[in-house]
Amino acid sequence: MLLSGKTRVIGIFGQPIEHSMSPVIQNAAFKAAKLDYVYIPLQVHEHLLNQAVEGIRALNLVGVNVTIPHKEKVIPYLDNLSTEAKLIGAVNVIINDKGTLVGYNTDGRGFVESLRFEAKVEPKGKRIAILGAGGAARAVAIQLALDGAEEIYLLNRSPEKAKLITDVINSHTASKASSCPLENAGDILKKVDILINSTPIGMYPNQNQPALVERNLLSEHLLVCDLVYNPLETTLLRNAKEQGCQILKGTGMLIYQGALAFEIWTGQKASVEIMYEALLKNLRI
Ligand code: NAP
Repeated sequence: MLLSGKTRVIGIFGQPIEHSMSPVIQNAAFKAAKLDYVYIPLQVHEHLLNQAVEGIRALNLVGVNVTIPHKEKVIPYLDNLSTEAKLIGAVNVIINDKGTLVGYNTDGRGFVESLRFEAKVEPKGKRIAILGAGGAARAVAIQLALDGAEEIYLLNRSPEKAKLITDVINSHTASKASSCPLENAGDILKKVDILINSTPIGMYPNQNQPALVERNLLSEHLLVCDLVYNPLETTLLRNAKEQGCQILKGTGMLIYQGALAFEIWTGQKASVEIMYEALLKNLRI
């Protein structure tokens, strides 16, 4: 990669940031598109977030990705938000539009694109169960509702966290959302078309942890998705495959949220194939 005075700069704000796969994915895509852009990891301490955001303007960055723990806290420092970022209450992409900082959320849209393009399933009219009610569940659930899911059940061990999400969906979209205890998974899974795990259960280095939902509750009509992408195939997905279910891996959400961010910054489509190749080469499993 040859950097020059003309090279445009994009960063990712987070803490920690060492584990992020985004530099690998984005730099591979810039190179493939022959764009003179570079993408760098930037460790940002929470108490300096305001100054870091000002730095986007001061340093004339094209924009940045924002990751944990800054996705919600960054919002007050931005000038505008996209509709989905407003509803989700979190931003993972910022673009610097001639000094105006606009925040987007491509996490939920990234999941929906992987559902569409990889599983070949449209969210419209679907009944969906989501395990967990953290940041990833919030982005995915609200985006699925915006894209026409009929009914969304959030199964979480802390019902108050699930309610924060169902309230947004019920008051701002046409979808119907409810929160249920994890113990009711058996009944709920009989009613839904799609199951999504948005908890870290099964993630490296705990890949042998049992899945939250027992194998015999997975019947073959279900599309089973896991947002965990390390390992590529979690215990939940292996169980689902054995039960004859269609499965969707977490890598798709990661790649498509990145491809959407690339498009926001450059105005061009990213090569999803190149991004996948770079991810799989660099993912330590
Ligand atoms: P988070 O905000 O910490 O939320 C985690 C959720 O999982 C919480 O609702 C928590 O329940 C639940 N949970 C955790 N441990 C549990 C357990 N032992 N039993 C039952 N529930 C449990 O995390 P997040 O940011 O949403 O991320 C969740 C997962 O998604 C991570 O594995 C992450 O790698 C993955 N992810 C993937 C992508 C992608 O691009 N594929 C993007 C984002 C995240 P409580 O509410 O009760 O605490």
